[in-house]
Amino acid sequence: MTVLVTGGTGLVGHALQKVLPNAVYLSSKDYDLRNYDECLSMIRKYMPEHVFHLAAKVGGVKANSDFAAEFYYDNILINTNVLNASYNNNVEKVVSLLSTCVYPNKVNYPLTEDQIHNGEPHQSNFAYAYAKRMLDVQSRSYRKQYGCNFITAVPNNLFGENDNFDLENSHVIPAIIRKIHEANVNNKNVVLWGDGSPTREFTYSLDLANILLFILEKYDGDHPINVGGTQQHSIKEVANTIAEIMEFKNEIIWDSSYPSGQYKKPSDNSNLLSLGWKNESYTNFYDALKNTCKWFIINYPNLRGVS
Ligand code: NDP
Repeated sequence: MTVLVTGGTGLVGHALQKVLPNAVYLSSKDYDLRNYDECLSMIRKYMPEHVFHLAAKVGGVKANSDFAAEFYYDNILINTNVLNASYNNNVEKVVSLLSTCVYPNKVNYPLTEDQIHNGEPHQSNFAYAYAKRMLDVQSRSYRKQYGCNFITAVPNNLFGENDNFDLENSHVIPAIIRKIHEANVNNKNVVLWGDGSPTREFTYSLDLANILLFILEKYDGDHPINVGGTQQHSIKEVANTIAEIMEFKNEIIWDSSYPSGQYKKPSDNSNLLSLGWKNESYTNFYDALKNTCKWFIINYPNLRGVS
């Protein structure tokens, strides 16, 4: 059986390589999926039974805001092309990724899958969010008209080895790891935005890789399914833990003149648990952070977004 992974060189793709080494892992250098002919050539070359569709234009708040049109255009094209080429070549199942940041700005917590389309996403990433929401719409409409088994999963904040450590473009954990490491090397204090009090849920990329295999086998539903761990960690706790792991001797200064962000964003993973996934199957947060920091130190500065 051939399993093809788009976005196979990213954070999630690298993690999947560890648990599913025999799949075909592709990047934008192999095929630019914004181009339908290239996408079709990819599917026709490998004729996969299953596709994990991970490829996306992903970025931080600033990039999402500065390049909103590109985030919309690239993601809409990539998703439209991958699903349509998969349908046209009888791919048995496609598993695609959305993100909890596609949920509406005004929403009832915890985030439940039935609320995804109930209002505008946050304005900071509306273009990415709407393009991702259309991935759900396209998957469901192909299921309805053509009977395709296309499913979508919704991870929350991901982190792990092979993340993007670009300070302009990265997510909270890789940004803190890099800042603390560089402050350590230069014997400086580190300044972080806000007061560190908001809490977030984080999922280790290796856990997501295992969940992707799990839902490939267990989930054939038409609606998106939340797949992230639901333990809450404050940003301050994350920073202090990273500082401890990296043996940071100087001070972390919280600059409250910057916004702290929304206080809480809990999600509901009960649909995943009802399939048999266990909350205990998520890697202990400290261990996952330790693996990531260790990997970062070994590979610095030859890392995505650094060199
Ligand atoms: P990365 O940014 O780490 O990797 C993106 C991947 O997509 C790379 O392999 C990249 O190839 C590929 N890609 C980008 N543009 C194109 C293109 N035009 N044609 C073909 N391939 C392309 O992403 P992640 O691994 O972090 O994310 C994987 C999925 O998970 C995405 O769908 C994302 O939206 C979703 N997600 C991520 C979260 C996170 O915190 N990271 C949270 C929730 C959801 P190349 O290496 O050549 O650039």
